[in-house]
Amino acid sequence: MTGCIFCQIIAGTIPASIVFENSTLVVFLDHRPLFPGHCLLVPRQHLATLVDVEPELFALLSAQARQLAIAMEEALEAQGAFLAINNRVSQSVPHVHIHVVPRTKGDGLKGFFWPRQKYRGPEHMEEVRSKLEVGLRKLQQS
Ligand code: AMP
Repeated sequence: MTGCIFCQIIAGTIPASIVFENSTLVVFLDHRPLFPGHCLLVPRQHLATLVDVEPELFALLSAQARQLAIAMEEALEAQGAFLAINNRVSQSVPHVHIHVVPRTKGDGLKGFFWPRQKYRGPEHMEEVRSKLEVGLRKLQQS
C-alpha cells in the first residue's frame, strides 16, 4: 500500500536488514531495537491490524515467530525471547507486525515493560473474567 513504510520495505523500495522472507511474510531487524536482534515479522499483504488477519495466516505468522525465537537462542546466545503485538493501541505502524525480541536474564526489560496493576478485589476480578468469557463466547458463536 502506498505510504505504508512496511509495504515499502517488503517491496524493497526502502532499505531494511532482511533476516528471512518467503511468499507469505518478511522478517527484518527493527531499526530501533530493544536489544540487538529485535525482529519484526510482517505479512506481505497489507493488513492494518490484528483484526484484519485471518486465523490461517495468523497461524503461519505465529509458527514463523516461534522458529525465530528458537533460532535466537543459538544464533544470538539468547536465553529466551519476548514476543509482542501492539494491536491499535501503541501500534505506530498500521501494518500488522510481531515483535520478536531476544532476551537474557537481567536484561532489564521486565520492569520497563510491565507496570502492573491490582484488581480492586475478588469481585472486580470475577466481573472482568465473566465479561471476557461472554465476549469470547459471542465471537465463537458468530
Ligand atoms: P509498534 O510501535 O509496535 O507499531 O512497532 C513499530 C516498530 O517499527 C518500532 O519498534 C519501530 O522501531 C519499527 N520501525 C519503524 N520504521 C522502521 C524501519 N524503517 N525499519 C525498521 N524498523 C522500523
